[in-house]
Amino acid sequence: ARARVIVVGGGIGGTTAARYLRMWSGGRLEVVLIEPQADFVSCPMSNLVLGGFRALDDLRRPLDSLQRQHGVQLIRDRVRSIDTRHRLVLPAQGAPLRYDRLVLSPGIDLDWGAVRGLEAAHDEGRVLQAWKAGPETLALRRQIEALPDGGVLAITIPEAPYRCPPGPYERASVVAAWLKRHRPRAKLLVFDANPDITSKAALFRKVWAEQYAGLIEYRPLHKAIAVDAGRDTEGRSTVRFELQEPERVDLLNLLPPMRAGSLARETGLTGAAGRWCEIDYQTFAATAAPDIHVIGDAIQVAPAMPKSGHMANAHAKVAAAAVIASLAGWEPDPAPMLTNTCYSHVDGERVIHVASVHRYLAGERTYRAVPGSGGVSDAPNALEARYAWHWARTLWADMLG
Ligand code: FAD
Repeated sequence: ARARVIVVGGGIGGTTAARYLRMWSGGRLEVVLIEPQADFVSCPMSNLVLGGFRALDDLRRPLDSLQRQHGVQLIRDRVRSIDTRHRLVLPAQGAPLRYDRLVLSPGIDLDWGAVRGLEAAHDEGRVLQAWKAGPETLALRRQIEALPDGGVLAITIPEAPYRCPPGPYERASVVAAWLKRHRPRAKLLVFDANPDITSKAALFRKVWAEQYAGLIEYRPLHKAIAVDAGRDTEGRSTVRFELQEPERVDLLNLLPPMRAGSLARETGLTGAAGRWCEIDYQTFAATAAPDIHVIGDAIQVAPAMPKSGHMANAHAKVAAAAVIASLAGWEPDPAPMLTNTCYSHVDGERVIHVASVHRYLAGERTYRAVPGSGGVSDAPNALEARYAWHWARTLWADMLG
């Protein structure tokens, strides 16, 4: 019988893995992709929807091209559990499926329990995250549009590592661009649990000082621990911090700490702290279950490696090659390389980027940034806004064909 590889999670990592497993095996592998959603909706570029610069439908792509063009079998379902001993995947609806190798790219879960009151506030739609692009992105956009002039909006950022290091600062910037024009007396508070801006710090600081002075107020080392949402007489929310005095705001976008998707945690693939999956970086095979390759945001990152879509796409290719090699009895690539580029909009028209190259070092069994590789933009510019959009379209095409 043909070897069967099951891919769980049809986001950036999983779709790329499924497509490349089919292409690089010359169609010889049976590849099954299990994902509950019919469409991929891109987190990259979704901050632009919050700033009113793009529609969510611009970021939506159907998954079925993987089936039509690449012969990937698509199953629209959620995986309930994985039986690693018998190599079985147990979907919520369908019958158990046997695998020879499994690629797991479940993304992140938001750790609601880490901030008191947040889960209830989120369930009631009072405090949204919009850190998984989709209906919540649109709902948060509507909340921003409803903010009165003179209103105060706050974004809170959890301790690193979290999905997309520059993402919250990009979000603050593009939302500020809209506020500046349509709610000129509004204020945007950025409460960061980290000691400083975690990506492209100098560039964001410069943009905020030049473009958003008096509008964006950045407060480092503010770790949100509790929220009381929309309950005072004016419908405002109170956010409480570990150290500082509480703040009352009109609109709150609270990003709690993040961890690997629950399926990875429940399968026992996370390390001692139980947050991120432990893997062999050369092949992305899980330490606890070497027939399972974990990729994307769910893994414990190597030094200087961001949790990004670009990275998830690169992990997927290393893992696909490693799966094919292990099924064929070949040695894996001794020195895989990964690249990353993160573009961030600072308003509707201008973009900054950071790029890096990461090489696997066999002696250290991890990746290190290649000295002298990569770099950052000199200043925000319109040309990179075109590059950013082409980057996103190229990524979606590389994932879905
Ligand atoms: P995802 O893409 O989230 O995919 C996970 C998939 O797994 C989901 O489709 C989910 O439905 C599925 N799943 C989970 N559990 C199960 C289960 N039990 N059974 C079946 N399926 C399951 N990255 C960049 O490189 N550049 C950017 O400009 C950029 N901008 C961003 C902006 C924002 C606002 C955000 C939030 C993120 C941004 N990112 C960016 C980061 C990028 O979106 C993530 O790093 C990337 O999506 C990670 O890919 P993944 O495959 O790990 O997870």
